[in-house]
Amino acid sequence: MTDPTPSPTASSVSLADDAARQGEDPALESKLERLREVVRTTWGFDELRPMQERAVRATLQGRDALVVMPTGGGKSLCYQAPALLREGLTVVVSPLISLMKDQIDSLHANGVAAGMLASGMDPRQRREVLAALDRRELRLLFVSPERLSMPSFRARVLEAGLSALAVDEAHCISHWGHDFRPEYRMLGDLRRARPEIPIQAFTATATPRVRADIAELLGLEDPAIVVGSFDRPNLTYRVQPRSDLLAQVLAVIERHPEGAGIIYCLRRKDVDQLSERLTKRGVRCGAYHAGLSPGERAKVQDAFRRESLDIVVATVAFGMGIDRPDVRFVVHASLPKGLEQYSQETGRAGRDGLPSECLLLFGGADYYGWKTIVERSVAEAAEAGHRNPEGLLEGNLGRLGDMWGFATAPMCRHARLVAYFGQELSGDCGACDVCLGELEPLDDALVTAQKLLSCVARCEQRYGVTHVIDVLRGSRSARVQEKGHDQLSTFGLLKGTPVTSLRSWIEQLMAQGLLGCTGGRYPTLHLLPAALPVLRGEETPTLYHPPTARKRSRKRVIEIEDADQGLYEHLRELRKTLADERDVPPYVICGNATLAALAARKPERVEDLLEVRGIGQKKAETYGKAFLEAIAAYAPANMP
Ligand code: ADP
Ligand code: ZN
Repeated sequence: MTDPTPSPTASSVSLADDAARQGEDPALESKLERLREVVRTTWGFDELRPMQERAVRATLQGRDALVVMPTGGGKSLCYQAPALLREGLTVVVSPLISLMKDQIDSLHANGVAAGMLASGMDPRQRREVLAALDRRELRLLFVSPERLSMPSFRARVLEAGLSALAVDEAHCISHWGHDFRPEYRMLGDLRRARPEIPIQAFTATATPRVRADIAELLGLEDPAIVVGSFDRPNLTYRVQPRSDLLAQVLAVIERHPEGAGIIYCLRRKDVDQLSERLTKRGVRCGAYHAGLSPGERAKVQDAFRRESLDIVVATVAFGMGIDRPDVRFVVHASLPKGLEQYSQETGRAGRDGLPSECLLLFGGADYYGWKTIVERSVAEAAEAGHRNPEGLLEGNLGRLGDMWGFATAPMCRHARLVAYFGQELSGDCGACDVCLGELEPLDDALVTAQKLLSCVARCEQRYGVTHVIDVLRGSRSARVQEKGHDQLSTFGLLKGTPVTSLRSWIEQLMAQGLLGCTGGRYPTLHLLPAALPVLRGEETPTLYHPPTARKRSRKRVIEIEDADQGLYEHLRELRKTLADERDVPPYVICGNATLAALAARKPERVEDLLEVRGIGQKKAETYGKAFLEAIAAYAPANMP
């Protein structure tokens, strides 16, 4: 069966990309054919995604490689599959035990000899893995960077036939990356000691600086650079001003009756409040933030992985190392501090390739909150002797500004996001509030913009958003009267218009470069040169009504082929039982897309199972009987 996931395709813009160099080479083609066979029989995938093929080509040639792919792009197959073909041992460096554990569980479920060594492991298990390593039985060994930097351990894996190194989450090596891990720096030692062992580095962080750092610090030699598209076509992005948080969040939850969801809040306090309010409304959800005890946190994380808990309200502390593929929505209850973070956090939705939603709720206060935090931390860094605090401030505010622009500019969210990563998308994405036409354009945009702009001018460009809105709405507040602004010609020009609309339009004008906003504690609005043609009526800006939390009735999310919904649910329960029996998360047994395919095709024999994506020989042997029986038992009773 073919992969339903609209897979990342080669990016057309990356100059560093070296697709052109990959010519025809008969030996390579035959290796690639063998690899495809392994992928079919072991993973049950009919084909490699285009980016995966590019990455494994380099690997099969024994070249170093730097593979940049967004979350969910399918990085792990790029180092797992070649490991089964090559002689000797492939070591995978991974920064998180939970990431390793999931991969090991999945590999074992597919019948691959793989092991992991991490701190906190049971000594008996550790001895077993080490013994298997010494007997050269393992194809893949997952280790932490700390362990691989120990000379004695390095000697041991070399002795055991180390023939390739894969570095996962390679951005951890760069202090420009967001999860800098000093231990990663030691990985360069292995390269210096044994330069003939190829290294493949993998990351989802695309900034050129981090990319260059990875190549340099790992000592990559003329690496094949494979950069995937950063677009995630199965994610639908929506952005709304935060008006009624609870209602807005509930609307999203209702749109996704199945699968999981994550709601990100800025502070612990917000997490506690929102999860409490949701619970009162009958939503079963967990709360997660750094203020909870490690035990409480582990409990929530574990329940989420095991699908006994579907909705988590959390700070951004939640998510790293969580690979649940059926996350159907990610809500941001306030503005993240940059698009890098936003893209990573929303990237946790829809890893299984099925349609999923990302909703960003924001308010002007979020921006100023972040600005204050940034300014304070830069001042602290300067006091602590940072060499270039101005540069630091500029960089941080620039990233915040990009985030703000994303939230307020009414342009395609997909295009805007990939543009941040230096890529281009053209046309209607069909999966954002702008392209779906969910934003309602304002009929009299020109006149409204003129009223707003001239009010800013009348207020002598010395007042902030709230005051300008008060004047336009004709408020008789003490401050308006005291300044004599009830005498202005723009006083009451937009009487009766809701504050949220006015605020949104001002933000939209800012995003389109007509209005500027400066100042520290009390920011003030001023006109930018692009406002003049609008005031003269020569140009019309685009203004939209602020989106509301209206409910959109949606079809069930699983729509692959004509999945029989009842059978699908039935198989899902079976999967949960099988997973609990084996003490692994359900997706290790198989993904939702596989369940849907089973429900649609209703296979009767083990051979038919092998035709279903995500089922290889090992899985067919282990779980095939249970699934076939469940399907056979279900079908007759439900015949029309
Ligand atoms: P990443 O590590 O890049 O975030 P994963 O390796 O976890 O991504 O893969 C994401 C999802 O895509 C997984 O559910 C995996 O089973 C699926 N997948 C990967 N490669 C293929 C393929 N060639 N065909 C079909 N599904 C695939
Ligand atoms: Zn779009």
